[in-house]
Parts: sequence; C-alpha cells; structure tokens
Amino acid sequence: MTDVRVRFPPSPTGYLHIGSARTALLNWLWAKKNNGKLILRIEDTDAERSTQKSIEGIIDGLQWLGLDWDEGPYFQTEFAENHCKAADQLLESGHAYKCFCTKEELEKKREAAKAAKKEFGYDGTCRNLSSEEAAEKEAAGLASVIRFKVPELEGSLVYHDEVLGTIKRAYDDIEDFVIVRSNGKPLYMLCNVVDDIRDRITHIIRGQDHMSNTTRQVLLYQALDAPLPVFAHMPLTLDLQKRKISKRSHGELVSVQFYREKGFIPWALCNFLALLGWNPGTEQEIFSREELIEVFTLDRISKVNSVFNHQKGNPKFFTDPKLISINEQYLRSMDISVLAELVKQDFIEQGIWDDAYEGEQKEWFLSTLDLIRDRFHTVRDFATLGRAYFADDYAVEDKPLKKNVLKYPDLTTWMPMLSERFDGLDDFNKETSEETVRALATELDIKPGILINGMRTVLTGQLAGPGMFDILMALGQERVVQRLSNIDHLYEE
Ligand code: GLU
Repeated sequence: MTDVRVRFPPSPTGYLHIGSARTALLNWLWAKKNNGKLILRIEDTDAERSTQKSIEGIIDGLQWLGLDWDEGPYFQTEFAENHCKAADQLLESGHAYKCFCTKEELEKKREAAKAAKKEFGYDGTCRNLSSEEAAEKEAAGLASVIRFKVPELEGSLVYHDEVLGTIKRAYDDIEDFVIVRSNGKPLYMLCNVVDDIRDRITHIIRGQDHMSNTTRQVLLYQALDAPLPVFAHMPLTLDLQKRKISKRSHGELVSVQFYREKGFIPWALCNFLALLGWNPGTEQEIFSREELIEVFTLDRISKVNSVFNHQKGNPKFFTDPKLISINEQYLRSMDISVLAELVKQDFIEQGIWDDAYEGEQKEWFLSTLDLIRDRFHTVRDFATLGRAYFADDYAVEDKPLKKNVLKYPDLTTWMPMLSERFDGLDDFNKETSEETVRALATELDIKPGILINGMRTVLTGQLAGPGMFDILMALGQERVVQRLSNIDHLYEE
C-alpha cells in the first residue's frame, strides 16, 4: 500500500474553530494510525481575507492541541505558477476553454432561469468557440475566464466515499465551472487539487460541506491524469438550533483559543472532538492518544450531522456538558506532573507562578494540586477557586461568607483564639489541629461545625473543598495562623 499522506489545508481567514480542529484531528489520527504523514497547507489564495494573525492563530492552536504535522506549513500562494501551468495544460488538452461571456450577460441568463423557476447553470455559450473565434475576441481586448469543460456524458459521475459509500452526481447537473478568473488568478477549486496532486495526498478527510466541490474536483483529477485520492466526508457540526457552527454566528464560543483560555486540557478537547461525529462502537468515552490512534477508523465517522451543545449565554455551562465532563475526568485522573505543567502555564499567565514549585516546594505543589483537583472542572480553577493555596489575594465567595461567617459575629473572637492556639502547637499536624478545634468548641459550648465552616471560608474563600484538616496541612501553620487572626476585614464591607 502506498504511504498514507493526508493534509490539513485551512484558509487563514479567522481563528481556528472547533470544526476545523476536528478536521485536523481526524486527519492527524489517520496519519498516525498508518505511520503516514500530515501536511499542513495554508490556503492563502484569497488575499483580501487572509491574514497573518489568522495564520499564527491556526498554527498556535494546532500546537496547543498537540496536533503535530510532518511537512509544511506550505503556503498556497507560493505555488501560483503550478496552478497556472495546470490551467494551461487543461486548455491545451481540451479539458478547459476560455469564456468571454460578460457578467451582465450571465446575470441576464440567471434572471431568466429564475423567472422560469429553473436552476441556473452556465449554458456553454463559449464552449465550442473555434480557436480563431477565441483569438479574435482576445485581440479585441475582451476579458475571459477559463472554464472546465465538463464531459458530455450520459449518466452520473461516480466516486467512492469511505463514510458515505457510493456518491453519484448526474453529469447533466454539473455546469462548466470557472477555474481561472478574468484577472488570471486560479480559483480554490483548481489550486486545491493541483496542490493535493503535488503533495501526493492519498486521503482527503474533510467536511460534507465540501461535497459539491468534490464532484468537480474528481473531474479535475481525471482531466489532469492523476490518481484519485480516497475521500472521507465528515458530518457537519450544528448547534442546538441545528444551525451550522460557524465563526460568524457563534463567535468566540467556537474558537479553540476560547477553550484554551477557559483552562481546558488540550487532549480532553481532542477526545471530545473525536467523539463529535465519530464513534468507537462501544460505550468507551475516554481515550488516550494511543488508544484513539489504535481504534480510529474512517468507516466509523458518522453519516449524520453532530450537535455541539455549546449553551450560549449560560456562564456556568458555557459549553457542551459532555466536554466539561470529559475535561473533569482528565483533570481528576491524569498524571499529576502532567497536570502540573498545564497549571504552571496558567499560573505564569495569571502572575502567581513561583519557581519554588519546581524546586524546594515541588512535593508540596504536587500534593496540593492532587488534594484540590477533585472538585475542579478546568485547569483555570486552580488559579481561581484554588487561589487561596497559592496566593493571599483570593476572593471570599458570597454564599459561604453569609452562611458561615457573617451569621456568627462571635467568630471575630473565636477565630483569633483558634489562631493563637494553633500558633502555640509545637507539632501542627492533622490530629493536634483537630483536637484543638474540638477542645475550643467544647469550651465555648458550640458545635465544632461552626468553627470548621468558618475556618474553611476564611482560609479558602470557598463553601466546599477537601477535608478541613487536609486544608490546614496544605496551607501550613504560618498561613493558617495569620489568616485566622485577620478575620475582621470580612465583616467590614
Ligand atoms: N481551504 C479549504 C477550507 O478551509 C480546504 C478544504 C479542503 O479541501 O479540505 O475549507
């Protein structure tokens, strides 16, 4: 079997969105599975809409997701000469022709078709111009485009799709399409095929929205005498209202960058994206890279569109609950040192990173991450919900403040008392600190829970979390003593 070569060819006209990331992922999986190659090709022929910022964003997003490529990035604009040569070759071999019909003429025909309730397709006016007639028009300075000459055949063009099976399209329904504009610029339709031939692409895995192009591109392959690659068209990703997910209508909520900023784990996002439109045929939901590469096959890509439940406007579940659930499962079970790397990146960005976490405090750092991760949803939660363990400028949430602190004004006396007693402990450990709390509660004739809940709120700002005495050990005697003695400010506002 020939070596598998797949490609990811984004048009750099915006950020990397989850639909494109899924395309990149499935191509990457197929390359890895077959020890093949993934080629990154930036299709930047649309000069007006392509931007450097978008190119950087796409590359950055792929790198963050861990989707590495083997060749490229190639830039389509750098191969303009090849595209023009292919157009010339098609003209010479009689597979294409120059068309001099003006925009106005075509518009009139389009209107007429509309009035007759017929679908408009180019009627082939210039298809049979003799070379003399064409030369005359050119000499008269008439502008022309180059059109592909769709073979006049009975029946249908047929090709095989790995996902959808046999695809047929009646030749009659395919109009002679433009491959080079009147300004001499070849169109995406042609450039894409010429580049795929040059890059020796064996499999084209892309969205079903490209299927109308595929029909025409199959004709181009045939006319250019090149072997057809294998096609696999993936379902589209829709929102809950069954609208196609797009940058235009869903904005940042569908950008990979958004998930990065929210603290999603790159592979958890890949795992989720793989399941969006592909299924393993089992109930398994969590797949390591190696597992996914092992089980991934093209024929398990689903035929029907998939739904991305992004719950726009809901700040708590700003994205698909399944994505959150997969992310949580990774967060809570992944190797702690791998998690530490992700937290480190975030802490650096949040300005709370301390190099000691990789030096003398490494053990403390890892065990604290492990202690608090159970309730967290994203990597970002360590710097927000878990901030009290790493910085003194943590917020105290409203709910526990009211319920556990403001309701008991006596805590302004009790907490400093507790602070003093903790300070006096020679050996501050889980047992001695628990005895201290219980003894004080007995002395004051109150439930220990009042002290414990108050402590939790003062020390972590949170309503819930790990066991109280584990928290004390994670924070350490000095910080506990300091924070408990300083409860007054919570009553001030
Ligand atoms: N540049 C096209 C896109 O981003 C590529 C489509 C393809 O051939 O895969 O949609």
